[in-house]
Amino acid sequence: MTDAVYLDHNATTAVRPEAAAAVALALAEVGNPSSVHGFGRLARRTLEEARESVAALIGTDVAQVVFTSGGTEAGNLAIRGCGRSRVLVAGVEHDCVIKAAQAVDGGAVAIPVDGDGVVDVNALADLLAADDTPAVVSVMLANNETGVIQPVAAVAEVAHRAGALVHSDAVQAIGKIPVDWNDLGVDMLSLSAHKIGGPAGAGALVIRDQVALSPLILGGGQERGRRTGTENHSGIAGFGAAAAAAMAGLDGFAALGSRRDRLEDRIRKVAPAARVYGGGAGRLPNTSCITMPGVLSETQVMDLDLAGIAVSAGSACSSGKVSISHVHAAMGADVDEASCAIRVSQGWNSTEEDIETFFEAWKALYGRLGSGDAAAA
Ligand code: PLP
Repeated sequence: MTDAVYLDHNATTAVRPEAAAAVALALAEVGNPSSVHGFGRLARRTLEEARESVAALIGTDVAQVVFTSGGTEAGNLAIRGCGRSRVLVAGVEHDCVIKAAQAVDGGAVAIPVDGDGVVDVNALADLLAADDTPAVVSVMLANNETGVIQPVAAVAEVAHRAGALVHSDAVQAIGKIPVDWNDLGVDMLSLSAHKIGGPAGAGALVIRDQVALSPLILGGGQERGRRTGTENHSGIAGFGAAAAAAMAGLDGFAALGSRRDRLEDRIRKVAPAARVYGGGAGRLPNTSCITMPGVLSETQVMDLDLAGIAVSAGSACSSGKVSISHVHAAMGADVDEASCAIRVSQGWNSTEEDIETFFEAWKALYGRLGSGDAAAA
């Protein structure tokens, strides 16, 4: 696959060399971070250095960073562990948040979103005012399918005024845009290593000190009792190294936005009816969720794969399904149109040539199978 073009970085991205090196070094350490002897202390130091890097990426204090197995566990721990029986979530959230919310006794309440998938903060305020059951609100910082960025600071303000806790899934946002814990003002923030160039199987929940959290699993009391079990210390070492590299690379990541915009412009010149989901909102610079009029997303993904180009139809967790994603459904998207959407997501190692190769393949496929006046262009 050396000549293949990978444009599915929101599903998972290439492990950064710094992260791979950190994992290898940590694997050579034999100690358990909880052991008091020298081997254990060495492993503990590796773990705590990683915690510092992760905390620095979002400008928080190390004491608030609880390592988990990834974003899925972090979201579950936040929503199911915070003790609130009413959970308000946007329909565009990742499955891990939606399903965790549905598992809470009081059930999940949907926060309305507009056609770009942006939450309606006034509607949230009304929902909170209508019921004084202790609540937690969960609104992601950036969407995995469209890249749309949510007004999380405004959500936190409204929710706190009503006495609710706030969780935000920042799995897709970190390393792609600057994320500042204090500016967001949330109580809990989910992070994942493998979306920023670290290994899969490591992540974190950042928790404000005042939040009393019940662990989902019981055991030896690691991570100050909030996430028990021997830490994945090599994976976490990779997470820390990836966080440092991602922080250093934020400017480079921002530059992907103009490349993405040029691509969308060129596609719309070929196919004026091509729709960019979330195009009216602020988006991550790397993500484009775009339709090819008349060609099912599944067909596009398979055809592009044969041409050596990897993209995704909806989120990776639901790829392969012909039905439209729950994100598009929540946005009120037209089913026929949304069935023709693919996600193109660049990463830290994407190149101009990758996008050029993708565009030429996209144009050729549209010329063969697409509908509309410009299909023959
Ligand atoms: N949240 C979002 C927005 C995601 O995109 C993902 C992964 O696709 C997750 C959570 C889950 O993270 P992890 O794969 O680390 O469990």
